[in-house]
Amino acid sequence: MKRFSHAPGPPPDSATSQDRQEKAVERRLDELIARLSERGRRITPQRVAILRVLAGSEGHPSAEQVHRAILPMFPTTSLATVYKTIHLLKAEGEILELEFSEFGNRYDGNKPYPHPHVICSGCGAIVDAEVSGLTEMTRRIAEETGFAITTHRLDFYGLCPKCRAERAAADRAGARGGEAGDAAGAAGPDTPAMRNRPAPAENGATYDVPRPIAAK
Ligand code: ZN
Ligand code: MN
Repeated sequence: MKRFSHAPGPPPDSATSQDRQEKAVERRLDELIARLSERGRRITPQRVAILRVLAGSEGHPSAEQVHRAILPMFPTTSLATVYKTIHLLKAEGEILELEFSEFGNRYDGNKPYPHPHVICSGCGAIVDAEVSGLTEMTRRIAEETGFAITTHRLDFYGLCPKCRAERAAADRAGARGGEAGDAAGAAGPDTPAMRNRPAPAENGATYDVPRPIAAK
C-alpha cells in the first residue's frame, strides 16, 4: 500500500495507538471489500459489518461472537450469513481459521497467513505472538523432510496476565484460610473443558493437523 508514502501530516509518533489501530482496521476492511467485490461478491451493509469485526478483532472471535457483535446494528442477520462470509474469505485465503476442540473455530481476518498464537488455558484468550526465525525453521524442515511445506500451526499455551492475577489473588485468599479462600478458588477462571484438556505434548503431538488455509 502506498498510503503512508505521502503522509504529510504530523509524525507517526503523535498519533495515538488507538488512531493507528483504527486506520489499520479501515485499511484491512478496504482490502477485504476490494477482494470480495473483485470476485463479484455482493457487498451488503451486513457483510461490511461482518468484515469490519473480522478485520479489527485482535481477539480471534468465533463466528458466534462475530454474530453477537453485529446484532445490535443488524438484528435480522443470521449466523448462517456470518458463516457464509467466513467461507468466502477462506476461499480467497483472506482469513486464518484456528480449530480448537475446546472452544470451536476462531478466526483471524487481520493476519490471514500462518503465525504463532499464545492461548490462555484459563479464559481462552488468543493473542498473536511474534517469533523470529520461523522462515528459517520452515526452510530447514522442508530440507530435512523433503516436504514442500504449505502451512504451519504454532500454538503456545499458558495463563494470560489477567488470569495470572486472578489466580494469585485467589491463592492469597486461600492462604489466609477459611471459606472466603475456597469461594475465590471455586470462582476461578477454570472451565471443565480446559481442566480436562491434556497438556500439549513436548513434540506438539496433540496439536490439530494444519490444513491449507483455503481448503474446501
Ligand atoms: Zn486468561
Ligand atoms: Mn492471529
